[in-house]
Amino acid sequence: MRIFITSLLLLVSPTIILANDQLIPVSEKTKKTAALLRDSALKNNSAYEILSSLTTEVGARHPGTPGEKNGIDWGVRTFKKLGFDKVWTEDVQMNGWVRVSETAEVMAPYYQKLVISALGRSSSTPEGGLKGDIVEFETYADLDKAAQGSLQGKIAFISNRMERKIDGAGYGPANIARTKGYMAAAKAGASALLIRSIGTDDHRNPHTGGTNIFKGVTSIPVAALSNPDADQLERLFALGHTPKVKLNIKTKDLGPIVTKNVIGEITGREKPNEIVVIGGHLDSWDLGTGAVDDGAGVAITMAAANFIKNTVKERPRRTIRVILWGAEELGLIGARAYAKARQEDGTLKDHIIGSESDFGAGPVYGLKSSEHVAPKAIHVIDTMAGLMGPLGVTRRSGGTMGGPDMIPLHALGIPSVGLMQNGEDYFDLHHTPDDTLDKVDPKMMRQNMAVWTVFAYIAAEWPGTFK
Ligand SMILES: [Zn+2]
Repeated sequence: MRIFITSLLLLVSPTIILANDQLIPVSEKTKKTAALLRDSALKNNSAYEILSSLTTEVGARHPGTPGEKNGIDWGVRTFKKLGFDKVWTEDVQMNGWVRVSETAEVMAPYYQKLVISALGRSSSTPEGGLKGDIVEFETYADLDKAAQGSLQGKIAFISNRMERKIDGAGYGPANIARTKGYMAAAKAGASALLIRSIGTDDHRNPHTGGTNIFKGVTSIPVAALSNPDADQLERLFALGHTPKVKLNIKTKDLGPIVTKNVIGEITGREKPNEIVVIGGHLDSWDLGTGAVDDGAGVAITMAAANFIKNTVKERPRRTIRVILWGAEELGLIGARAYAKARQEDGTLKDHIIGSESDFGAGPVYGLKSSEHVAPKAIHVIDTMAGLMGPLGVTRRSGGTMGGPDMIPLHALGIPSVGLMQNGEDYFDLHHTPDDTLDKVDPKMMRQNMAVWTVFAYIAAEWPGTFK
């Protein structure tokens, strides 16, 4: 059928064939509107106001807690209040886990308290706690080499420190201690694992975070020490001591629970079924109020879509869908469920392009596109970067998956962009009690919102496709 139509067109109208092969330009009108959105967004405080509301009226939003439920209600209420065209939630099945309490003490050679935080899905210590000599490993790889059974009755400790980098590149290499360390420690027979926090600060704040187990709890208790407490253990080793530590960790496996993705959209005027995805994750860790992770991303993208709706006379051509994913921190659970549901209902193909904001509230400085953006659409990304230029953004090479919650869509071939934020300070706060609103600069929220309006508006208005 397709061959027949093409050959017919070739006979009657060779120019149409030619036009199909040409790049579809971004119109002058679209560029002008995007520039207007950009400049006026810089004077608009709504992203910061939304973030203030989320962190003040809700706070921490860990799956399975009342805070999470309040966060979901807040998402629905806020989308509706802002006047989004459609607002709904989607149930996601998951296994819940919560911390109850945790303490750690050096018993010998010198008594002192340590500040720790149990990692996601850590199991509990036996009633009354456990004691053990600390065995230090510099890296996860070193612990992984420990012989089976060699750590019987001991507490393994991974001491390496993550490096501070503008793009957060120090996180990946260090983070494996958190996600997989418990398995290596358990294999070697350790009764527990302590890791140095995956963080760049020198405050006495432990950085919690997920392990890569999705159901149930880890086989051993596992916790992060604050950086100063990890330093303390290292100094004891340097003096030739083997510190003996007592750990008392209580956690609770909640079993099957339901979380939700909260979704609001601005319906496209011409191609309502075609979707530009933006968003952040609504869940947070339980220690702070989830301001930079990821209240900022939630607020920036909600505010950007809303600002386009309120500023541009008519709705953009395509739908802008703002997704507030659930349970990201425990393993992209909401994002995986969202992608799976789209495969099942056949609407995956309607997802034109997407991106998530999930790297705090630092300024955006770079724009990358994923390998799924077709060569014919690269000029559109270049145009976006050009329009973001006055905001301090430049076009960058290298791949992207569009943010953590875009990974499942990226894996299914959906094009994405990465709006790279300055994250030099991000890992000072990430997953700590210090992740609170006062760390967020309203001016940077305006810059972020301006960048996101340019991306979302052009992606929704440009008539070509990115695939
Ligand atoms: Zn996050």
